[in-house]
Amino acid sequence: MKITDLKITRFRSTVCTKPDHIGHQHPCPPRPANVTLYAIETDEGVTGYSLSSDAFYTIREGIEVPGGNAAASLKDLSNEAVQSTQNAADDVYLKKVKPVIVGQDPFEREKIFHMLYKMQRSNNNAGLSDGVMNHVDQALWDLFGRYCGLPVYKLLGGHRKKVSAYASTMVGDSFAGGLSTPEEYARFAKQCVDEGYRAVKLHTWADDDWSGDHVYGHPDVNKDIEACKAVREAVGPDIELMVDCFHYYDRYDALKLGKALQDLNYLWYEEPMEEYNIESYKWLHERLEIPIIGPEVMKGKYWTRAEWIVNGICDISRSGCGDVGGITPLMKTVHTCESFGIPLEIHGRGAGALHVMAAMMVPGRYYERGMLHPFLEYNNTPPWLNAPMDPMDKDGYVAVPQKPGLGYDLNWDYIRENEVK
Ligand code: MG
Repeated sequence: MKITDLKITRFRSTVCTKPDHIGHQHPCPPRPANVTLYAIETDEGVTGYSLSSDAFYTIREGIEVPGGNAAASLKDLSNEAVQSTQNAADDVYLKKVKPVIVGQDPFEREKIFHMLYKMQRSNNNAGLSDGVMNHVDQALWDLFGRYCGLPVYKLLGGHRKKVSAYASTMVGDSFAGGLSTPEEYARFAKQCVDEGYRAVKLHTWADDDWSGDHVYGHPDVNKDIEACKAVREAVGPDIELMVDCFHYYDRYDALKLGKALQDLNYLWYEEPMEEYNIESYKWLHERLEIPIIGPEVMKGKYWTRAEWIVNGICDISRSGCGDVGGITPLMKTVHTCESFGIPLEIHGRGAGALHVMAAMMVPGRYYERGMLHPFLEYNNTPPWLNAPMDPMDKDGYVAVPQKPGLGYDLNWDYIRENEVK
């Protein structure tokens, strides 16, 4: 079998989130947006797909999301700007990736991974990110699964059919009734537990706005501690809690928060400092008992995960498909962790995360479900799918998709009716 084409289809949707200055999403009034479907076609008529999004938020009934100052303070991209950004992104797939993969055997994912990874070395291929590699790799796995008639996790060496989810909150904000105070975090955590979650992760305030406006909430280690205390009091001792805070605290603030978290019996402590600063993590790790998890955003795929382990600065490793370039390199990370006896917690939601988790022997205890916010309904079927990807039961478990490939049940009528030509 040979790859004959890489196609990009874009279709219209609506989103209710907007990024802050460092990229964390927050609620906003509904606005138009495009979803992208990547397709890898072959000479035998089998096609593999990857989606830019398989989640769909709506605003909860009776909620009016502030659209004024906070939303207006971030520049809305004009259609022209959106178009030019999308054209640049498409160029990477169509002008860099496509010429290299057309003619290749789609089952030789390892070869394709190494071809693309080595292309990343050159500035000529700027834009060929791990995120781009992720979509190519996931489409190849989807293709393999559809060809074999098996879900991807079984092809990876299946281990379990359902995974326990944690409620992953959005990053803190300044919206009254949202995530603007420790009490609001406590109320929302309790609500998540009532919905069935057995674990909750707080993302506290992290709007690193250089103008000083901090429209979504100023990072503050003392406020973080108050929020973590309020949540522990609200959910009691039996719910597992984790925190992911502002990522640029100095050592002393990071230590102060870490000590508070271990007193509150939190399960892990995530990204309180710049992840490239190995020496600071060594310093912090020597002074804390609470498990430190990482790295999440540090580049370098499974090699940097190994460096963190051998440097003794993490107790739990961290990685997601989009962080390392797809399912293929994420499975290498899984096996690296297995060989060191180090747990790995998968970063981010979606089909790739579920299939890898279902094929992991090393924990991986939790699937990151969300991100969640009191204003937003997460439990929706996206209109471009006929079924949701990660529905959760009353005991907090998410079933691993059992359809061939990644498990997308694409709604072709919606996609065709809303295609952006
Ligand atoms: Mg994180």
